[in-house]
Amino acid sequence: MINQSRLADEFAKLAAISSPPLREKALADYLEGRFRTLGAEVVFDNAQEKIGGQVGNLIARFPAAGLAAAPLLFSLHMDTVEPCEGVVPVLKDGIFTSGGETVLGADDKAGIAELIEALEVLREQRIPRGPVEVVVTVAEEIGLVGAKHFDFSLLSAEYGYALDTVGVDSMVLRAPGANRIFIELTGREAHAGVAPELGLSAIQTAGLAVARMRLGLIDHETTANIGKIAGGVACNIIPRSVSLEGEARSHDPVKLQTQTAHMIDCFEKAAETMAREIEGVMCQPQVYIDVRPDYPRMFVEENAKVVSLAMAAAEEIGHCLEVRRGGGGSDANIFNAQGIDMVILGTGMQDVHTTQESVAVADMAHVAELLVAIMRRAA
Ligand SMILES: [Zn+2]
Repeated sequence: MINQSRLADEFAKLAAISSPPLREKALADYLEGRFRTLGAEVVFDNAQEKIGGQVGNLIARFPAAGLAAAPLLFSLHMDTVEPCEGVVPVLKDGIFTSGGETVLGADDKAGIAELIEALEVLREQRIPRGPVEVVVTVAEEIGLVGAKHFDFSLLSAEYGYALDTVGVDSMVLRAPGANRIFIELTGREAHAGVAPELGLSAIQTAGLAVARMRLGLIDHETTANIGKIAGGVACNIIPRSVSLEGEARSHDPVKLQTQTAHMIDCFEKAAETMAREIEGVMCQPQVYIDVRPDYPRMFVEENAKVVSLAMAAAEEIGHCLEVRRGGGGSDANIFNAQGIDMVILGTGMQDVHTTQESVAVADMAHVAELLVAIMRRAA
């Protein structure tokens, strides 16, 4: 049913169009034409004006073809991580890789190629389907920026699938929410050899705080990290300021809150520990903390329609979907937070975000077959 050579040609075309975050115009133009050829009405939102990009998020609306059903949504992203200028896709023994100098961009172009092939098959074989909406976001790889600025009024679907994770026959229902934490510590500068008694070390304060902090794997659904630290001027100066950046993630919003509060508390306690009298005045390092919610958690119920539809479609064609938990944020977190039930399906891409990235044509065909089955069953 799936035309593997057409699918491979489509993927090769997509991979060869460079689309770094915020510079997706060439790919957007191609997709606009491609989706129109397949019968969609294509529009863009104005996200680029808010995020400083070349083009907004693409929305393709395919009217129903012979089946009255609620609209079904597919979500993908146009951009790829760098290095991605001048990708030369190489097909050898049924597996696509890049020439080695760049990523391949199977993340997320494998998913785009699979969806296009599935739509081709439905059209060619006149298989009835309900209305389909497709969103291809921009700037996903730099913090879900396109999705965070997406104009949701352009959509009517209430459930759907993001085609954007590794593996085949794999489905993600849950992913953590995350906070980013920015810390500025300010102590007192002094000559480290001549007048150390006048100083209050920001580096020592940071060290105390981080040493007492629970980091890494906190429990089966919570993680935390301090990922950046910078400060100090010279060996002979007691450092006045240090800045740090960290994050906390959890599948449980209460635990996310608790871990974030714990990290803040460690900095405040460390500052108190460092407090002492200098020239008759009690001095304490100042702590400035900024917590920014990065993305909300993704939580789809096991008995949701979006799950049972995929399970039934897979069963019909002899595939067996395995449910996994995600470890990070993706556009699906944002869609779910907007009330759209969305799970993530594996697209066969492997070793993503490296120059060894690859995808097998047979795996893309396997996923495309599942997409056909999902669309024909959606009611
Ligand atoms: Zn991706």
